[in-house]
Amino acid sequence: ARAQIGVTGLAVMGRNLARNFARHGYTVAVHNRSYAKTQSLVEEAGHEGDFVPSESMADFVASLERPRKVVIMVKAGAATDAVIDELLPLLEEGDIVVDAGNAHFPDTIRREEALSARGLHFVGTGVSGGEEGALLGPSIMPGGTRESYESLGPILEAISAKVDGTPCCTYVGPNGAGHFVKMVHNGIEYADMQLIAEAYDLLKQGLGASAAEIGQIFAEWNSGDLESFLIEITADVLQHVDAETGSAFVDIVLDQAEQKGTGRWTVQNGLDLGVPITGIAEATFARALSGSVPQREAGHAALPAHTQEWEIGADDDSRARFVEDVRLALYASKVVAYSQGFDQIAAASAENGWDIDRGAMARIWRGGCIIRARFLNRITEAYERDANLPLLLADEYFTNAVGNGLAAWRRVVAAAAQNGVPTPAFSSSLAYYDGVRAERLPAALIQAQRDFFGAHTYRRTDREGTFHTQWSADRTEQEA
Ligand code: NDP
Repeated sequence: ARAQIGVTGLAVMGRNLARNFARHGYTVAVHNRSYAKTQSLVEEAGHEGDFVPSESMADFVASLERPRKVVIMVKAGAATDAVIDELLPLLEEGDIVVDAGNAHFPDTIRREEALSARGLHFVGTGVSGGEEGALLGPSIMPGGTRESYESLGPILEAISAKVDGTPCCTYVGPNGAGHFVKMVHNGIEYADMQLIAEAYDLLKQGLGASAAEIGQIFAEWNSGDLESFLIEITADVLQHVDAETGSAFVDIVLDQAEQKGTGRWTVQNGLDLGVPITGIAEATFARALSGSVPQREAGHAALPAHTQEWEIGADDDSRARFVEDVRLALYASKVVAYSQGFDQIAAASAENGWDIDRGAMARIWRGGCIIRARFLNRITEAYERDANLPLLLADEYFTNAVGNGLAAWRRVVAAAAQNGVPTPAFSSSLAYYDGVRAERLPAALIQAQRDFFGAHTYRRTDREGTFHTQWSADRTEQEA
């Protein structure tokens, strides 16, 4: 037994993770259900480092130094359980099983419970960055026991992305915490992508600009506060020309967005926790709307627009002002989406006793992952100022940043409404902003209605207690 770490499941992700370990000097045991993938890895990348290939799971496990560290990188769901079942009889107390696939966090909680009962460490780990990240340095979000992180952590930190020399990997929290944080990362990714898409649509419709022109605007934005991987690839994609037709590539892509389910999980969890993650929810529903073909056909045929004329002057200054308004609205909406996502992490952390350090999560998302961005530094700094910040938006940096763009944000959302451009994420983010800053909300009326039809009771602003009004009788108030 000489391998320091093993990877089972050698499709694109597992193969690249194994290569990343080997490139960092670790001896890597490799295994895949069908042996061909193991062979091709060793044939094609064997020169990159020290691999120990095995055809059987038993040989694979036997090739690992104790305590064994086995990374499972298979299709999330039943395949993960099948691999765990195969591994279990071969492992010994103290061994560490890492699930680096995109597991749903309740599955991770269940698996951790089962494995810890057998004296094994189970580390549900979020990995972000896709195929390229896995090879060159992903963002890694490991859960499980602190004890397991002591021996596993340094290896994962070594292969993770680095920003200013700091690894994009840190201990997240017990059992499902790592996969939970990865799920919220993906939810935020949905919101970020939707906001960018809405900004693109506004520029396209408001300015009548071509995809390439808008790509230029995004390229400029990428040198400011919005600098991020997603803005960078947006600039690139918008300037790409379809080789076959000579059209802008984005104009020949079918406008129906698909999803693999992590956005949906995030929204479902937001509903369970009662955390208003409106940006993520609108982004997930916007994808669903785009794919609602019969509804879109019926809507397109029947629904009038009654839009107004755009009020953007044809001169360069007016156009530049509109571009700047959209940029400010995008930044403000983005801050809201992240603020909501971090609220969700705080709520789940409290509910599950995970004790997640939100500033550290922002720090490990700065590199390697899809939402990597300069702006994440600001989030880390905000939680450094106050680790228990109840609302990220209320941190002084973000209050100022959003405040500076507030008038622009309102103009953009109003223009979108008047001109019929669907901006669910921009609009709902502004509604959230106004909701969370309001001194008094019409929720009072909802409580009154609930008491009227269902005797659900209400509390008063002027004294303690719970009350019910006898609506159908003499309307006297009783203490409930
Ligand atoms: P896939 O999700 O396509 O899964 C294929 C791998 O799973 C193959 O190695 C396959 O083995 C194995 N497998 C499937 N069923 C079983 C089973 N019943 N028993 C044993 N092995 C099985 O691979 P990816 O590399 O795309 O992704 C791996 C994991 O990483 C997934 O959980 C994915 O969600 C996650 N992930 C993926 C990212 C990406 O960008 N692709 C990013 C981050 C995470 P065989 O070759 O024998 O069929």
